[in-house]
Amino acid sequence: MDSKSSPVEIFFFPYVGGGHQIPMIDIARIFASHGAKSTVITTPKHALSFQKSINRDQESGLSVSIKTLHLPDDIDIADTDMSASPHTDTSMLQEPLKALLAEHKPDCIVHDAFHRWSAEAIYSLGIPRLVFNGNGCFSRCVMENLGKYKPHEKASSDYEPFVVPGLPDRVELTKSQLPIMIRQPQQRGFVPKKMGKPEENSFGVVVNSFYELEPAYVEYFKKEMGNKAWLVGPVSLCNRNVEDKAERGKKATVDEQQVLSFLDSKEPSSVLYISFGSLARLAPEQLLEIAYGLEASNHPFIWAVGKIFRSAVKDIENEETWLPSGFEERIRESKRGLIIRGWAPQLLILEHPAVGGFLTHCGWNSTLEGVCAGLPMITWPITAEQFSNEKLIADVLKIGVKVGSMHWVSWSTEPWAAVGRDKVDMAVKRLMSGDEEAVEMRRRARELGEKAKRAVEGGGSSYMDADALLQELKSVRKSES
Ligand code: UDP
Repeated sequence: MDSKSSPVEIFFFPYVGGGHQIPMIDIARIFASHGAKSTVITTPKHALSFQKSINRDQESGLSVSIKTLHLPDDIDIADTDMSASPHTDTSMLQEPLKALLAEHKPDCIVHDAFHRWSAEAIYSLGIPRLVFNGNGCFSRCVMENLGKYKPHEKASSDYEPFVVPGLPDRVELTKSQLPIMIRQPQQRGFVPKKMGKPEENSFGVVVNSFYELEPAYVEYFKKEMGNKAWLVGPVSLCNRNVEDKAERGKKATVDEQQVLSFLDSKEPSSVLYISFGSLARLAPEQLLEIAYGLEASNHPFIWAVGKIFRSAVKDIENEETWLPSGFEERIRESKRGLIIRGWAPQLLILEHPAVGGFLTHCGWNSTLEGVCAGLPMITWPITAEQFSNEKLIADVLKIGVKVGSMHWVSWSTEPWAAVGRDKVDMAVKRLMSGDEEAVEMRRRARELGEKAKRAVEGGGSSYMDADALLQELKSVRKSES
């Protein structure tokens, strides 16, 4: 095959866990479905969590595979259970990655920005490099203008709302909702780990979003911030069969049939699904407040409890420390709720017609997955760029109710019960009621869900962007050969 007809070969170098690894695997599969030859680069341990979905794609004829980087026996990357924090050091992968790239010379590599060393390492090899950083355009614009105009410096208190200048909409935040490195950059003892600007000297940015969701911010991100970007999402929609949905990220720790029969027994749009993503560790006291709030609201729910902050727990095995006495028996007997300990099959749950709302920590993947399912949301941001995502959901798209989370908490800080049971109860009732406000939110959310699906179908905006990127990579190859 000559350089015009041979498929574009792309290497994908995902981060080592959670909300960054999951979407990049989907992106590799999407490009394969557009005719590229996709290869995912990872360690043998990390490959285990997505090997099966890659096998299924191969069986259906897609050109997608995994290449593993071998580490010396005495070196390991902590947390292969989806909980690698954004500061996990992955630099031991640098030399094996460089050797692999030098040997194969793909047309391009897409790497995660959390591999902080990778931009420099790849640059030295002269292979076109695309950056993936897990966020949407809205939060990137908010962060950019916070840095540029520093509106928080004029706020008189941590709780006085200020407007982020220069954006297409009125976006309000408080200082208490900003990441610590923006709020107190000179705090004693705090040394931010710099990520630099991985977009510099890159071929561009691959974004998990779709144009119709945040058009003004896509334009801002490209034109005002000068990014060359391709939007190829929502990437979760490439998971079309039940196995892919049930095993995405990790195999679910609950029997999916049990979950589905619980949902089948419920009225359409009556169940609230609750999840704080793959990373967040809630304090036992906070879980108690959630449980009391859910019980008071009297709405059916599925609660993926996720991780519990351990050092604060005296006796984690004793459920009384994080569940009200008799809570589980009561919800079991009344068939009102289901608690999932560990990993939930989130995509399967969200798309079930009985689910009518999503209480989310506003991680970008969860936000998009809620949008795809056409669901209104209760927003409960905790860290990272989640407070910006909350503003997009609740204030710009108007498909969410804020629970009233006010404090950005660092991954390394001990969490506490920041939101009380009354706020949980009120937010659930507001979202799940048949009030005019809730009906209107649901209507808007459904409309967005339809747009999301259209974006990834043939001729849709994300479909076209993926094709356009492949064409551009081919033309670079042509002009260089
Ligand atoms: N997820 C899941 N089951 C769980 C928890 C999380 O499938 O029990 C998936 C979820 O569908 C999403 C990802 O993990 O794709 C979490 O990413 P997000 O950006 O929402 O949050 P993060 O985990 O990065 O905080």
